[in-house]
Amino acid sequence: MKSQLNNLRQLQELVLTRDEHHQTGDGSHLDSLNDAIAELQDKLEPQVAGLYSRLYKKSHIVIAAISNGCCSVCGMQVPIAQTQQVRLAKHLVTCSSCGRILFASEADAAHNVSDNYDRDDPKTGISRFSAAELMLADLDAETPEGAITALAKLMEENKFIKNADSLITAAMNREGVLSTAIGGSLAFPHVRGVEGGGLTLAMGVSKKGIDWGDEKVHVVFLSAIPVAVSAFYLRLMSGIIQSFSKKDNLDAVLSATDASSLWKTLVKATRHTVK
Ligand SMILES: [Zn+2]
Repeated sequence: MKSQLNNLRQLQELVLTRDEHHQTGDGSHLDSLNDAIAELQDKLEPQVAGLYSRLYKKSHIVIAAISNGCCSVCGMQVPIAQTQQVRLAKHLVTCSSCGRILFASEADAAHNVSDNYDRDDPKTGISRFSAAELMLADLDAETPEGAITALAKLMEENKFIKNADSLITAAMNREGVLSTAIGGSLAFPHVRGVEGGGLTLAMGVSKKGIDWGDEKVHVVFLSAIPVAVSAFYLRLMSGIIQSFSKKDNLDAVLSATDASSLWKTLVKATRHTVK
């Protein structure tokens, strides 16, 4: 059943990538994404395919990692005996609350360790997902991998995530499926399934620009995304794109000289677009 679970995880990632492409892309990769999705669906055993399609009708998030002993999507605690069955992966186990198919996350997967998500803390806007420590005003990278590495290390050094290396690997795998450079000098590399906390966003600015697929990118936003907020991430991305389609905002971040001025510029630019 392990290979079926792996197929399901890949399938979910492709479906959510297609949702992103619907929202922020130009539609030019829909055919190839649809083909890849159909190919994976064909590999599902009939029983698994049936369960998948029933769940998919309710939500595109069909499978959920167990994180800190709970279903990472609905938050319901998973009994230890059930967690054990999930690890053994002899048959599919579903969450007793939301019905999603559960899987055990790998020990070395990147996860969120930030304690910056205090429910009583009245943070608003972009401050809920990022901070001055996650700004890199002089992103000195020649390649997408270099940019992703610098930002992932910044997240790890500032204790927002654990294991930058697995975040980098996963982000590069995602780039391999479909480039996250979206035109207008922006790229949005990201990793879904970083559980254990909230969405975390780091920003880097390259004055000279980075060749990113067919695009020249000056501003890079790296995100670590818990699966449960995948849909919200699309709205966040749209808000940021809207802000930086204005030349004034783009010029302002390009001329920021240090992390604190970059952070102030980001907060100001997204004040009306990221709620
Ligand atoms: Zn659940």
